[in-house]
Amino acid sequence: MAMQLQDAGIHSFTIYERSDGVGGTWRDNTYPGAACDVPSHLYSFSFAPKTDWTRKFAEQPEILGYFESLIDSHGLRPHLRFDAEVTSATWSDDDQSWGLTLADGERVTADVVVSGLGQLNRPNIPEIPGLEDFEGTLFHSARWDHDHDLRGERVAVIGIGASAIQFVPRVAAQARQLTLFQRSVNYVAPKPDRAYRQWERWLLDHVPPLQRAYRASIYWRFEARFALMRKGNRIGALMQDRFGKELGKLVSSKLPREALIPDYTPGCRRILIANDWYPTLLRPDVEVVTDDVTEITEHSIRTAHGGEFDVDTIIFGTGFRSTEFLSPLRITGRDGIDLNEVWADGAHAYLGVAVAGFPNLFMLYGPNTNLGHNSILFMIEQQVAWIRSLLVDMMRDDSSSAEVTDLAMRRYDDKIRAAAERTVWAEDCNSWYKTDSGRITNNWPDYTVRYRRRMRHRVPGDLRLTTRPERPAGPESTPESRPARVSR
Ligand code: NAP
Repeated sequence: MAMQLQDAGIHSFTIYERSDGVGGTWRDNTYPGAACDVPSHLYSFSFAPKTDWTRKFAEQPEILGYFESLIDSHGLRPHLRFDAEVTSATWSDDDQSWGLTLADGERVTADVVVSGLGQLNRPNIPEIPGLEDFEGTLFHSARWDHDHDLRGERVAVIGIGASAIQFVPRVAAQARQLTLFQRSVNYVAPKPDRAYRQWERWLLDHVPPLQRAYRASIYWRFEARFALMRKGNRIGALMQDRFGKELGKLVSSKLPREALIPDYTPGCRRILIANDWYPTLLRPDVEVVTDDVTEITEHSIRTAHGGEFDVDTIIFGTGFRSTEFLSPLRITGRDGIDLNEVWADGAHAYLGVAVAGFPNLFMLYGPNTNLGHNSILFMIEQQVAWIRSLLVDMMRDDSSSAEVTDLAMRRYDDKIRAAAERTVWAEDCNSWYKTDSGRITNNWPDYTVRYRRRMRHRVPGDLRLTTRPERPAGPESTPESRPARVSR
């Protein structure tokens, strides 16, 4: 967003960041084996591509390095404020601006606020009775304790999803005994990963049309996978059958069917990729427990059917509080409405970027913009382009605020909910894509090309623009001279 604002000639913005560095999820998740399951060449911005990736699926340090490199290559450092947590934002209709409060009490004013909080930034640690009594070491995958040595320990992992699938094989190689508390089984497909050869890297780095064609081929291959997300699709049924047969061969008294074979349609939960997952499950020092965790004691974990497992360290792979979106930020819009109240039945937003009653507040990676089949960076680029174009028009027309109408937002949401019901995500499985009541708040329920088409042009009448009162005559204002303070 910052790069695109600069490109549009808008320089009066500040980026507030709670932590002391950039990178968000790629900064927080440093667990062993952390990597992206979207191919590297699709995992950079089209307007700032990285062309020298070292492997097909980049690991966390290389991805973080890419995001960090953009700060200086695009002169963003003067705009960044680290250790600056925004705790509340309140809209003033009189001033046509947002008042932000920071954790240290500082107050700032902004004409426009863009949130870039992501969907997966607040670790979820379940409230298990006795948790606070545990005397061993305990941490969440997104807050990895690198000072703690797991060698020779009895380690438990609670929660097996995309993160656990990556760190469990590494932990298994160190621990004396590893117990996996797996409530839901995942589909784990092979990962076509390898390091690029020298000559491949050279070509991709030095022949831009080749790199672009390669990137496009990845995009379209991934885009086609949305077919798998449609309810009742044939490919899903075939895949389920194939998995059942193949994994059936691994079933034993140590690894029962319920520990291996998913009982839901592929795609309902994110399909995972790894080559070392099943070999890890087959290790003699690894045990899979499918019984629910009910209690934690000073030195053990107890389960629903009377099991008790002595452990030294517990690692939570229990994901994030994904459906809470902008929480715990308190956001108050026009006429004092609270965003939490608007979202009481589940977060929703027009195009995933705007909410009626909250003028000049725009979101990146907001409700219903996550994907189960393609790169999230593509979606974020569409949102950034939409916001940029709106801001440029507002400045040109001297508009003080833009707000989506209630009707446009409701119409949009009805369509999204109906489309989401037609996907496999609505079927019977647990996933972070939906709220406890089953509302799918996180995913975009269509091909990403359709999102791009929808984001290309603003629909007349969907947004209400307020014009600034006449200003006294003076030098013609330019985007540079306007007070557009954009926070992210
Ligand atoms: P996740 O996919 O939400 O998995 C969390 C797991 O914890 C689920 O299997 C859940 O089981 C389980 N769980 C939650 N509470 C539990 C409890 N009380 N007892 C037992 N199990 C419990 O979280 P994640 O693995 O951190 O991944 C989150 C997302 O991050 C991914 O889907 C992905 O989008 C992203 N991610 C991406 C990559 C990448 O390569 N791009 C890598 C890592 C993560 P239930 O499902 O039964 O609730």
